[in-house]
Amino acid sequence: MKVLMCFGTRPEAIKMAPLYIYLKSRQTLELKLCVTAQHRQMLDQVLDFFEIIPDFDLDLMQKNQSLNQLASKIIYSIDEVLVNFQPEYVLVHGDTTTSSMVALAAFHRGIKVGHVEAGLRTYNKLSPFPEEINRQITGRIADLHFAPTIWSGQNLLNEGVKSEEMVVTGNTVIDALNLGLEKIKNGYTCLDIERLNDIIIPNAKIILITGHRRENFGDGFENLCNAIKQIATDFHDVQIIYPVHLNPNVQEPVNRILSNLKNVFLISPLDYPSFIYAMDQSYFILTDSGGVQEEAPTLGKPVLVMRNNTERPEAVKAGTVKLVGTNYESIVNACKELLLNNEAYLKMSRSHNPYGDGFACERIYNKLIFPK
Ligand code: UDP
Repeated sequence: MKVLMCFGTRPEAIKMAPLYIYLKSRQTLELKLCVTAQHRQMLDQVLDFFEIIPDFDLDLMQKNQSLNQLASKIIYSIDEVLVNFQPEYVLVHGDTTTSSMVALAAFHRGIKVGHVEAGLRTYNKLSPFPEEINRQITGRIADLHFAPTIWSGQNLLNEGVKSEEMVVTGNTVIDALNLGLEKIKNGYTCLDIERLNDIIIPNAKIILITGHRRENFGDGFENLCNAIKQIATDFHDVQIIYPVHLNPNVQEPVNRILSNLKNVFLISPLDYPSFIYAMDQSYFILTDSGGVQEEAPTLGKPVLVMRNNTERPEAVKAGTVKLVGTNYESIVNACKELLLNNEAYLKMSRSHNPYGDGFACERIYNKLIFPK
């Protein structure tokens, strides 16, 4: 069977890398990889780490391009790949413009679509924007749905997906994390890990921060930065490590509000292995990222999520992730609780992960080969 895997951003690359490696190791498939490079540098770092070389590289990233420009370029450019390679299945991931537009292009060409990380929903089309609509479009088109959890699978069944078209697999992010941790355990190191070791203050409680959601641009990031400033000023035993996303809407408030604090370390985005390492060294994590919510419970790290809703309710229910929104006071209060109340901290740092057991790729392969 000919299969084309297609992705374009860092989080997709992280979550598709273990699946690519697993499928490549099976003789039953002819697998090719196409990257749109919706993100360039951050995507390439992940491909390098997992030693993956794409067969097709559409190289579509351009500074300041609109979502419509990107979407139209994806449909236009992937078409030639589809026509030349003629796959039976196209595999896309999650909720990006790449996922929805590649799925649409495949549908136009009568090619079946498998959706990895299917069924996550907020049912609020503006949050997260544009991801919620990207994942719904992809879900409507997909012929096979690989849902990471029972809850996401149930969303699909409620929407009319037939049970034989859906399988609950666990999230491939855990398969990726296990591969990454294994490499680090076996001595893998890199410049970013060495730089982290240079800045980490012994015995400090590290708060690791990431943020990039469009909906938090403006007031959300202002509030976040002011809250971090407050925590950094009030707690001298805390070290804040913040790999700042390259988007100017993030860079501007972060640099303006947080640059001159002695226990706040603003650094460039970390490559994936270094980020895993940083998560592992942290006391807790403050983020608006989806993937980080899924990874951190494996490492037993509490996560405070700077959003009002999440399409990943499982860890919130399990008690290891808490939604704190983007209000200044709620962020400060939630951080203070974890820093001051040991019982609350221990409750959130249980390493129970509802998102996967590291065998998602095997389940996806089995469903692809034996769909009925
Ligand atoms: N990540 C990384 N370097 C960083 C921050 C995050 O490699 O500096 C990884 C992280 O481990 C996770 C993924 O990027 O697997 C999450 O990506 P992001 O937050 O950009 O997207 P989302 O998951 O929200 O779609």
